[in-house]
Amino acid sequence: MTANASGQMIEAIGLSKFYGQFAATREVTFSVPRGQVAAFLGPNGAGKSTTMKLLTGFLAPSEGTAKIGGFDMSSQRLEAAGMIGYLPENGPLYLEMTPHSLLRYFGQARGLNAATLHNRLEYVADKCSLGDVWGKPIAKLSRGYRQRVGMAQALLNDPEVLILDEPTSGLDPNQTHEVRQLIRSLGQTKTILLSTHILTEVKAVCSRVILINQGRIVLDGGIADMEGSEHDMEANFRKLTGGRKAG
Ligand code: ADP
Repeated sequence: MTANASGQMIEAIGLSKFYGQFAATREVTFSVPRGQVAAFLGPNGAGKSTTMKLLTGFLAPSEGTAKIGGFDMSSQRLEAAGMIGYLPENGPLYLEMTPHSLLRYFGQARGLNAATLHNRLEYVADKCSLGDVWGKPIAKLSRGYRQRVGMAQALLNDPEVLILDEPTSGLDPNQTHEVRQLIRSLGQTKTILLSTHILTEVKAVCSRVILINQGRIVLDGGIADMEGSEHDMEANFRKLTGGRKAG
């Protein structure tokens, strides 16, 4: 059950985050309805990760409200956080653990009972193709496998909402293809917000684009809106983000 009658599963309402005088995000407002896969696009430093941390409750906003499934991340935190699977920008932290021990640990921490945990571990190992590395230390795994461990962690409690921070960053083309396939298949049943600065990724997996630049939303629409009048996503991206070089 969700608290949200409007069907919006992810809501950013006037989210600002200040570091001293500097605004990492400024009055960021958008919402993603149930079942949509939305791209959160923008150049490096635009405010994507900060917004995602505000939406997942890892950071408290200076102003504004984050809601998941209609639940307010600050006043109804348990309900809101319980609906989210989050892939943070820097993969799994506990490098000495194996995917199996790490995921079991997180499952237990999330309060899954033994039988549910057993089933969920089997499901995520299969869905994220982790069988070959299940018992190997994460420190020994390639970036592609580490990313898949992060995806498995995000999927562990079968969340309705997935917030994925650059899910294909640093992956080779084969790994990228696999992770995109996984996201597409997950998108059939879940609401997904994924950040990226790779434009081909947007077309490959998303039906909606939210573009952020220098902490502000500068476009919110469909793929055609992102392509603009010139039908060129890259040209329109440069136009809307002031042609600043990424990096
Ligand atoms: P993106 O994910 O789009 O690359 P971020 O959300 O990571 O962008 O960062 C947005 C801006 O906020 C950047 O200019 C970054 O340097 C700044 N920033 C992020 N975290 C902090 C912090 N803890 N202290 C100060 N500035 C920060």
